[in-house]
Amino acid sequence: MGAVLRIDEIQHALAVMAHPDDVDFSAAGLVAQLTDAGAQVTYCLVTDGQAGGFDQSIERTTMASIRREEQTKAAAEVGVSELIFLGRMDGEVMFDLGLRHDITRVIRKVRPQIVITQPPEISVVSVYGSHADHVATGQATWAAVYPDARNPFAFPELLTSGLEPWSVEEIWLIHHPNSNVTLDITDQFDRKMRALRSHVSQHQHPDAMAENVRIWNAANAQLGGLAEGRLAERFLAVDAR
Ligand SMILES: [Zn+2]
Repeated sequence: MGAVLRIDEIQHALAVMAHPDDVDFSAAGLVAQLTDAGAQVTYCLVTDGQAGGFDQSIERTTMASIRREEQTKAAAEVGVSELIFLGRMDGEVMFDLGLRHDITRVIRKVRPQIVITQPPEISVVSVYGSHADHVATGQATWAAVYPDARNPFAFPELLTSGLEPWSVEEIWLIHHPNSNVTLDITDQFDRKMRALRSHVSQHQHPDAMAENVRIWNAANAQLGGLAEGRLAERFLAVDAR
């Protein structure tokens, strides 16, 4: 595979995730570094996270609008103001042509160098990481990067409506056992936590959540060979050129 893009070489990034808060747990530090360096980052959320949270008295349609608002606030904490919601139902994401079409449309519109997304395969060591919606989102995004977004004959009405083919350079997968990028996010960690805490409806015990994320990011730093006390996010960057 080719060289992995450095943060300062990335001007445009797109994160495609199944649920509101997925991007904040896995990649808010990366996103903050990108926007600090002047990059434009766009979020594409496949569902509205209607099946999330702990309060069963909240109507699920109400939950959808709560979660869009929370994700919008979280995005602002790390310098992101462009959010695209595909409006799929939480828990019902399918890897199908409809989803490939919708993500292809977003890629051609945003024209990102990198797409950050969820692994397209189940990892049997992580039940939570391998939520069926995550795997379907990863599969559809993979297919949208290649072949659909760059192929003028895929979904021809997109071209007719002015959306030219676009070749993404790299796919960055979150939570991957074969990660090849360790990003030191110690300086962005407080903002990552503010982004995560924006998802108020999801955290019955926000301080415990924060502590777990710190432990997890410290373990990432150790795995990546960073110094004691550092915090990191890890990614598998895949060459798509
Ligand atoms: Zn999720």
